[in-house]
Amino acid sequence: MNNQFARLKQQVENRLDAISDPVTGKGLYTSGRVSGLEVREDGKVSFTIEAPSDAAERYVAVRAEAEAAARSISGVTSVAAVLTAHEPKAARRANGLSRVKHVIAVASAKGGVGKSTVAVNLACALASLGMKTGLLDLDVYGPSAPTLLGVHGRKPQANPDKTISPIEAHGLKTMSIGYLVNAEQAMIWRGAMATSAVRQMLEDVAWGELDVLLLDLPPGTGDVQLTLVQRTPLAGAVIVSTPQEMALADVRRGIAMFDKTHAPILGVIENMAYFETPDGSRAYIFGEGGARRTAEQAGAPFLGEIPIDVRLRESADAGAPLVAANPDHPVAQRFREIAQSALGNVARLNKPAPKIAIR
Ligand code: ADP
Repeated sequence: MNNQFARLKQQVENRLDAISDPVTGKGLYTSGRVSGLEVREDGKVSFTIEAPSDAAERYVAVRAEAEAAARSISGVTSVAAVLTAHEPKAARRANGLSRVKHVIAVASAKGGVGKSTVAVNLACALASLGMKTGLLDLDVYGPSAPTLLGVHGRKPQANPDKTISPIEAHGLKTMSIGYLVNAEQAMIWRGAMATSAVRQMLEDVAWGELDVLLLDLPPGTGDVQLTLVQRTPLAGAVIVSTPQEMALADVRRGIAMFDKTHAPILGVIENMAYFETPDGSRAYIFGEGGARRTAEQAGAPFLGEIPIDVRLRESADAGAPLVAANPDHPVAQRFREIAQSALGNVARLNKPAPKIAIR
């Protein structure tokens, strides 16, 4: 692309940004309404204006204005602007995730492997390392955050701008559908309601400034999980597994899912890896080193092992995550090491994205 051509694109962006977005009051471009901007070498310009569905009619005039603005630039020969009505994703993002540096998904191929226990303790470990950390429990049918964090009877605050404030617990900002409805209610939800609840939690929570937001995904690596992670720009994914189900196929499925989202695998955590006997020796009940080998074979980093530990389970049941309640416990130390490795992989595997994604 030659300089003159790049300058023309820049001019189009600037002109579009000089038009005020009817909803946000900021520039049209800054507000994320313009997508697919193309400027061809023969001076033909095309772009889409994505209007929020509840205010689409206000954008009819905006489109005309945008076309005229682009056409007035010298070197532009024709302009085609398409208007589409969408869920106001860009505007909502500005509320929710815009000041979150890294969103990390925590996934598992199956339920019951300790994914939520690991996610909560990993979040506490990140917080103890000085990271401003959030935890979003996305399991709408079986939310575990209220129990694991001991959040009972507290309701998230609804704000005038239609966002909801997260609940602070154990040094984390947290959100779960379990804070909004009780578990029985959640269980009988139909798909559409669950989907809209998830969308609301992804878009409308006022996280504020965070270094890391962990998403505790529902168990499994199917379409439900894929749709969830596709909605969100991820800095990476952590896969939790146990030794006995640590089949290569499971990890591969997880990796394949995140490949579709172009999110890097930050690593595999093997939970319930061994049991430490009273004399201090380790009993690898389900075999030793399988997870590390499996991860390596699948081309994913291995983050570490978490042993079967009674205190870990007890603290989870008591709503006081081990890492926060008992930071000197060796398993807490293990979580901090894993958190540190995961952060290292975030830095290593995420190259800075280009500022403006136009072709
Ligand atoms: P998932 O989110 O994968 O369904 P949970 O985090 O709910 O799994 O854990 C399932 C059960 O296993 C819980 O009772 C939890 O306390 C327990 N658990 C998880 N990890 C460990 C561990 N390393 N040692 C002992 N108990 C564990």
